[in-house]
Amino acid sequence: MDKEYVGFAALPSQLHRKSVKKGFDFTLMVAGESGLGKSTLINSLFLTDLYKDRLIPDASARLSQTLTIERRGVEIEEEGIKVKLTLVDTPGFGDAVDNGDWLRPLDVAFLRAVHEKVNIVPVIGKADALTPKETQILKQKIREQLVEQEINIYQFPDCDSDEDEDFKKQDAEMKASIPFAVIGSSSVVRDGAARPVRGRLYPWGAAEVENPRHCDFLNLRRMLVQTHLQDLKEVTHDLLYEGYRARCLQSLARPGARERASRSKLSRQSATEIPLPMLPLAETEKLIREKDEELRRMQEMLEKMQAQMQQSQGEQSDVL
Ligand code: GDP
Repeated sequence: MDKEYVGFAALPSQLHRKSVKKGFDFTLMVAGESGLGKSTLINSLFLTDLYKDRLIPDASARLSQTLTIERRGVEIEEEGIKVKLTLVDTPGFGDAVDNGDWLRPLDVAFLRAVHEKVNIVPVIGKADALTPKETQILKQKIREQLVEQEINIYQFPDCDSDEDEDFKKQDAEMKASIPFAVIGSSSVVRDGAARPVRGRLYPWGAAEVENPRHCDFLNLRRMLVQTHLQDLKEVTHDLLYEGYRARCLQSLARPGARERASRSKLSRQSATEIPLPMLPLAETEKLIREKDEELRRMQEMLEKMQAQMQQSQGEQSDVL
């Protein structure tokens, strides 16, 4: 395997020594239609040929393909740090190969189904097929559609005020580039570049995967494996999973509560206000029951007040 620098060497400063020592799990699901470039992107990101035995289906096979989920595991070790990755690929999710139109009804339905359970990091594949202007227009369109469709994507945390200026600049640039427009390639090319680069060679030049002027690949890889790896894991555990568990418990306790709970927006604020993950299971359940009881009492109070108001309005109109 190519021994290029991936970036895990920067992790010890972020992570607790213990978890670094024994390694830790990081699950990455790449979802999208067949042919969008998911496997190539994964290979470009982690320099590992996970799909070397995979047969790429032709168009007719794709049309008849059902929604099968492929799951491959890989362990990456760099400078003594082990990172376990589980990559889940959903081939045949749709049937078209076109990145010009995003967020079809199927995409929306899929994102809706998962947005409260996983961190969504939107990515535009095959960015070399778009001009810089088209990329900007598509990004803006996707950002607007995500808001319109009320799909929660991964919220990047605010940068600490004591970070150095370079870091703050990089952080701002990364946030501005969402959804990341990326190019993937399994080949190394040499088009005028002093050294061989990962890219796609065309008669008019090379589209370079790791050139920030060509695409956002470096930003995506940097956030996934360096700067935001720990935060992604924490949000999954502390916010998404605990939110999911709380909704399940509520739906058991009160029919109808589940929809109400899922309608309420998840936010980092609510995660810090209700530190559920710090509590043992029994404590958490007790808290949820107490909260439910409190809500029930408030509801009763509200109903009484409404009844009183109606009564007094009725009395007034009687007088009039
Ligand atoms: P998947 O079905 O989503 O996993 O797609 P693949 O990674 O198998 O890629 C499907 C085809 O698209 C292959 O022929 C790739 O070489 C090509 N491809 C992958 N990434 C890119 C890219 O960034 N740009 C272009 N133009 N083609 C790509």
